Amino acid sequence: MDTGPESSAPDNPRKQLFDAFIEHFCSVNSHQGVFPKKCRTCGKEYENLHHYIGDTESKAQTMEDVGEIMGKSFTMVYRNCSCGNTLVVTITDEIMPQITEFWEALRLEAEISGHSLKHIVTSFVEEWENDINSQLSRIRKNTRF
Ligand SMILES: [Zn+2]
Repeated sequence: MDTGPESSAPDNPRKQLFDAFIEHFCSVNSHQGVFPKKCRTCGKEYENLHHYIGDTESKAQTMEDVGEIMGKSFTMVYRNCSCGNTLVVTITDEIMPQITEFWEALRLEAEISGHSLKHIVTSFVEEWENDINSQLSRIRKNTRF
């Protein structure tokens, strides 16, 4: 990895870790079958993961690794549609090869920081939302709808 002079935040390794995984999650957009996702209650369609994370509300339980129950890599993301309906997106290692690495990194981060895994996951999702919102506001500035 090239660490140029612009990597001015070595004091915040968690943000760097999160940013790297946010990029991997955003590659999910190119996989068929995950998106578009349609809300069965109100009919709203989410074109991609950006749209989904950016336009839904976070729930108390945001992401869960249910791999042990499923017997394979299996992550569930829970978000509320603007109508209140819960929309679940499932991510396997076929969709995102780095998903196992992601959970290992978050578990390690929880252990090192002394926080619960849930706390780390919530911080990750918040960082992801912030990232998408800042990207969306950049797009809105440059595009007329
Ligand atoms: Zn809806």
